[in-house]
Amino acid sequence: MSFTLAIVGRPNVGKSTLFNRLVGKRLALVDDQPGVTRDLREGAARLADLRFTVIDTAGLEEVTDDSLQGRMRRLTERAVDMADVCLFMIDARTGVTPTDLVFAEILRKKSAHVILAANKAEGAAADAGVIEAYSLGLGEPIRLSAEHGEGLNDLYTHLMPISDGFAERAMTDAPETDVDLTEEEAEEGDETAVPVPTRSKPLQVAVVGRPNAGKSTLINQIVGEDRLLTGPEAGITRDAISLMTDWVGSDGVAVPMRIFDTAGMRKKAKIQEKLEKLSVSDGLRAVKFAEVVVVLLDAEIPFEQQDLRIADLAEREGRAVVVAVNKWDIETDRQAKLKELKESFERLLPQLRGAPLITVSAKTGRGVDRLHDAIMRAYDVWNRRVTTAQLNRWLAGMMEAHPPPAPQGKRIKLRYMTQAKTRPPGFVVMCSHPDKVPESYNRYLVNGLRVDFDMPGTPIRLWMRGQN
Ligand code: GDP
Ligand code: GDP
Repeated sequence: MSFTLAIVGRPNVGKSTLFNRLVGKRLALVDDQPGVTRDLREGAARLADLRFTVIDTAGLEEVTDDSLQGRMRRLTERAVDMADVCLFMIDARTGVTPTDLVFAEILRKKSAHVILAANKAEGAAADAGVIEAYSLGLGEPIRLSAEHGEGLNDLYTHLMPISDGFAERAMTDAPETDVDLTEEEAEEGDETAVPVPTRSKPLQVAVVGRPNAGKSTLINQIVGEDRLLTGPEAGITRDAISLMTDWVGSDGVAVPMRIFDTAGMRKKAKIQEKLEKLSVSDGLRAVKFAEVVVVLLDAEIPFEQQDLRIADLAEREGRAVVVAVNKWDIETDRQAKLKELKESFERLLPQLRGAPLITVSAKTGRGVDRLHDAIMRAYDVWNRRVTTAQLNRWLAGMMEAHPPPAPQGKRIKLRYMTQAKTRPPGFVVMCSHPDKVPESYNRYLVNGLRVDFDMPGTPIRLWMRGQN
């Protein structure tokens, strides 16, 4: 049993581009001219291991008169009726337009499940539009780039519970995973952070690293079977790029996890001659779908170029990161080695400051439950929410300790701060002259947030915004 997703939104926001990406064939026309494609189109979509039907409502000319508005409304309503879930897309580069508001209204009235996506969100030019999308009142937007394939992991995260719901109709509705704070909750707050919600779906973990780092051995150790090393002949399908497991931590609690298996992908693909190259692109794919990325290093050859690239990518994609150093069983001078590793880590990956460094032996299983705990902690930090009241008290203190600069004699005023998103944590500061705030001041604030609100290791996003 599978579900149907309708992609709706005004012309030219990128609906067909996403449709094509999900369907994998170029069925729909894509063009810069609004309204090139016509009417509703249906395709068989796949996103990692999810299979569903996708409907594209491309084919709407920009609304200029009443008849077109009526046509747009009818077409959208038809798509919404056919669908189990709607993906409402806006263009993050343009921001929210009056036509977007018309769509938001239709969806609020008609659709049970709406996923909001701010498309064309690659690069900083889209930041303001992404933030603006919150004003639609349809929850946290997914930051998407249909053209570049970014944000698909978040789409996957949203669709998975829906997919699971269809697979197990008999079960009661899955509880919400994201907490949306009420205004009072956001305003009160003496506790350091709002507790992380309990999970209702498996935690998504990718194990990445260079060939021979020990990824297969580690996943076998976790999953507890010889499932990966049996190779392509054993009839593992190409589609099975993730493994489900209940991974029991040191506290004895089993946590359902979906582990993306890049080594297995490589082995299944049977392309042994281009190992280096392929394992990088597999790694990239896995990172996009993961919530927590485990960068697995070989203790003998740690922090190679390839390791650094994938760790940096995980940071840029906004994933929670845990670094695991494998083959610790063959290390003789562990203390000296650990010191050396920590120094290299700080020097080579400053963007991941504070991320946990865990030593393991995938072969013997030593340290693997510490890895489990580190993954859970990293996930918690990644989801952390700080109240607005706390942030503003904190901001006042930060400005007092170190006032923002005064370019051309005009002091930059930071007026107000709020947390706009989690996974990873993202903050917006309203200020005068947002474009004049130097990078060093941004770093000062980000590092302060990290320390004062105990958010080690996670990427932290900070946006300066002017008031309009
Ligand atoms: P539709 O009318 O909503 O179906 O939009 P299309 O899919 O036809 O896309 C409209 C235009 O936006 C095309 O020129 C696409 O190449 C472009 N586009 C789509 N997605 C993205 C994206 O993620 N980033 C950027 N920069 N452009 C995109
Ligand atoms: P992958 O390419 O990252 O999947 O790496 P594999 O899991 O295939 O492991 C590569 C080699 O390293 C194999 O010969 C493993 O037996 C060995 N290996 C993996 N983990 C450990 C470990 O913790 N200790 C030792 N000594 N060898 C390991």
